[in-house]
Amino acid sequence: MKQILQSLSREELNALVESLGEKKFRVEQIYLGLMQGKKISELPVSPSLRATLLASYEDEPVAIHETFTSSDGTKKFLFRLADGNLVEGVLMSYKYGNTQCVSTQVGCRMGCRFCASTLGGLVRNLTAGEILSQILAVNRASGGNLKDRAVTNVVLMGSGEPFDNYGNVVKFLRNLTAEGGIHISARNVSLSTCGLVPEMKRFSDEGIPLNLTVSLHAVTDAERRRTMPVANKYKIAEILDACALYFRKTGRRYIFEYSLISGENADEAHALALAELLKGKPCHVNLIRLNEVKERKLTSIGEKEAYRFLGVLEKNGISVTLRRSMGADIGGACGQLRASYLKNETPPIS
Ligand code: SAH
Repeated sequence: MKQILQSLSREELNALVESLGEKKFRVEQIYLGLMQGKKISELPVSPSLRATLLASYEDEPVAIHETFTSSDGTKKFLFRLADGNLVEGVLMSYKYGNTQCVSTQVGCRMGCRFCASTLGGLVRNLTAGEILSQILAVNRASGGNLKDRAVTNVVLMGSGEPFDNYGNVVKFLRNLTAEGGIHISARNVSLSTCGLVPEMKRFSDEGIPLNLTVSLHAVTDAERRRTMPVANKYKIAEILDACALYFRKTGRRYIFEYSLISGENADEAHALALAELLKGKPCHVNLIRLNEVKERKLTSIGEKEAYRFLGVLEKNGISVTLRRSMGADIGGACGQLRASYLKNETPPIS
């Protein structure tokens, strides 16, 4: 595979253009073109410069292969990478704007028992430019530009564990939030991790004050180990310490994801233990009813029970919401669309 031009910061692009002996104003033309989601072959530069760039860089690192639209307006995208790998993303519409969920790896090696992304293991990391290009492609396809963006918020909750691809993800975040580009503010970005403690600590020093989100899904280490292999490596107490550090460094409260799984983590006793664990902490809890993955045996609890769980947390002073399930009819859960594609099944369409 060739290199990915969209991985470069503006400064790096500047250096590249200079090294090619091109005039300075070319930097702006290339940078703005790329940020608008253009292919290299569409950039408004001389044919010879385009040819030079195309010799080393992928013309279209991330192409929208297919789009599925849910009855609730959620759009699911299947992207094709230059090497033929597939990743998926989702665009959800809210009152305050449109949130795009991006993938950071092809597959995942974390092995969470409820998740479809990890079924085939990790294929490879995405480069910074491949993560960014998912957004550039969707913004363009949805009629957005750099002034009036169709994508206003970003969550790193697609396939992959962002902190297992640390360098590329941090580079992507810097390019995403840079002024003059697509420029999505860090406070409109959420990064979800299964709790890689060393990287969480390291990230608190990067100066990127985003919404740090941790997939907790259990109240004790023993129970967490049943569904999340990463719990063999890091304790919940260490995760809470890393969250506290992030809050001290950035002033941003942190978020816990808690997917409710029947017979596993969703009893009243779990709700009480969760409230006890998080009491007084500057955090928010996002409850999600498990999105059932057919390769997995785990099942969700009912909506009523989920609201009862939420009520217990609220009564105990925890800030909590039950996330609306969106796009369930188009394979909304992580990795479901790609998984069904890889098996040559008919993709779920609304
Ligand atoms: N690797 C990151 C991002 C993963 S996806 C992480 O672990 O946080 C974002 C969220 O969806 C995570 O909280 C993940 O645990 C959760 N998730 C994955 N599969 C799910 C499913 N089938 N139902 C509900 N939540 C799921």
